[in-house]
Amino acid sequence: MLRVVQDFRVCRYGRPEGPHYIIILITASFTPPTCYRQIISFMIGKSMKSSLKKKLSPSAKIRVKSTIVEMDGDEMARIIWKLVKDKLLFPYLSMDIEYYDLHIKNRDTTNDHVTVEAARAVMRNGIGVKCATITPNQERAKEYSLKQLWKSPNATIREMLEGTVFRKPILVENIRPSVSTWKKPITIGRHAHGDVYNNIEMRIDAPGRAELIFTSAGGSSPIRQTIGEFTGPGIIQGMHNTDESIQNFSKACFMHALDQKTDLWFSSKDTISQIYDGRFRDIFEKEYIENWKEKFDRAGISYFYTLIDDAAARIMKSEGGVLWALKNYDGDVMSDMIASANGSLAMMTSVLVSPRGYFEYEAAHGTVQKHYYKHLQGEETSTNPMAIIFAWSGCLKKRAEIDSTPEVATFADKLEKSAISTVASGIMTGDLLSVAKRSHKNRKVNTETFVDAIAKNLRKRLSG
Ligand code: NAP
Ligand code: MG
Repeated sequence: MLRVVQDFRVCRYGRPEGPHYIIILITASFTPPTCYRQIISFMIGKSMKSSLKKKLSPSAKIRVKSTIVEMDGDEMARIIWKLVKDKLLFPYLSMDIEYYDLHIKNRDTTNDHVTVEAARAVMRNGIGVKCATITPNQERAKEYSLKQLWKSPNATIREMLEGTVFRKPILVENIRPSVSTWKKPITIGRHAHGDVYNNIEMRIDAPGRAELIFTSAGGSSPIRQTIGEFTGPGIIQGMHNTDESIQNFSKACFMHALDQKTDLWFSSKDTISQIYDGRFRDIFEKEYIENWKEKFDRAGISYFYTLIDDAAARIMKSEGGVLWALKNYDGDVMSDMIASANGSLAMMTSVLVSPRGYFEYEAAHGTVQKHYYKHLQGEETSTNPMAIIFAWSGCLKKRAEIDSTPEVATFADKLEKSAISTVASGIMTGDLLSVAKRSHKNRKVNTETFVDAIAKNLRKRLSG
């Protein structure tokens, strides 16, 4: 009797050119004794493990069907970025990468065209993954001898993609949030356009009247309102937003909530700011009723508007598991609060979602400059790669969803589980050690050892 056993390595890794077979000849009257079966399974297991160790041959790797746009970055984040690719991704995945080097020197050399090209590539391919980059200030300009203070790459990309940034913590059982009721991650959706970040400010040093004046492009007479009468020194600030940007923000929030199957909250201070914040509330409400209510009902999720102070009070008592959409300043503050309450900035993932259907994944932290200087001096670092790993896994999961390649999603899931179980086992970087539940198993390791521990875990998961 010819018995054909499908090579389970092939099943697990979804080899694109079709299955290979291990052929075992067994006579009709012959039932292999247990020890034979054990030997066979041992040999299969061993050959699998050794081949995984040696790296899978290109044809045995999991194929990511469509192109991923990769944007490399700066300093310690760049070092980790390479470690993650070399040890956790490239040994197992065959990917078409469109690579853009957003290193500060390359941005300077290309007069920042590389950032614009990278954003265009995300628009062409739909999905990108970005390493943290330096936003230059005077100090950085001197440090890297820059021609000028180039704009933040994140701001350039965000504007081109018209995207909204969603930040979500990575939860691990032994890194408990400071708020004991939080059981599920709280995602922050921040409207990253206008308001105080694009304001005009003035210092007043003499008595006088401050006015708000709108001059219509159509030529009708200007509309003016008194802001305040100054009898002495003071300050004035003017800020704005557009209906189009608020609408894009609301669409991105509804889209992301549906994608994540999570309730959506939006909060502002419309009782005080009845026109400005009121406009946000009205646009969200209209967008919900016209385009999302039915989809939300079908998905069993809800949309809820409340005042920002009420939302802040409720979130502290909630069990989490919501997407909280916030105006620019509120989102800036609340995302740092959520990140810190969850242990570390390095346990926060970030995705830019465009209402036009583009996605850009990144870590919420920066380039970790201080650790990089230590690294340059040959000192050991213990920098946390979790958010960078989750940027890649998030990007792979979205690619898998769009390409209908479940094997890629399964790989991304195993990668995330390997990273989480490494921390849960007590192996962690320095930032987590101080916030982890106390245990004799807890051990601070250096950056590379931590990635190696995740790689070991991943190999185990991939081999069954
Ligand atoms: P940062 O890089 O986020 O680091 C701030 C501090 O947070 C670090 O010194 C470190 O604290 C801790 N930390 C952050 N990430 C960590 C990680 N992965 N593992 C362990 N600890 C971590 O912020 P920054 O120092 O203010 O900014 C540095 C550069 O990053 C700046 O040039 C800024 O422009 C840029 N930046 C880029 C992005 C982005 O591209 N998305 C975002 C923010 C900032 P300890 O030193 O106490 O260990
Ligand atoms: Mg902030």
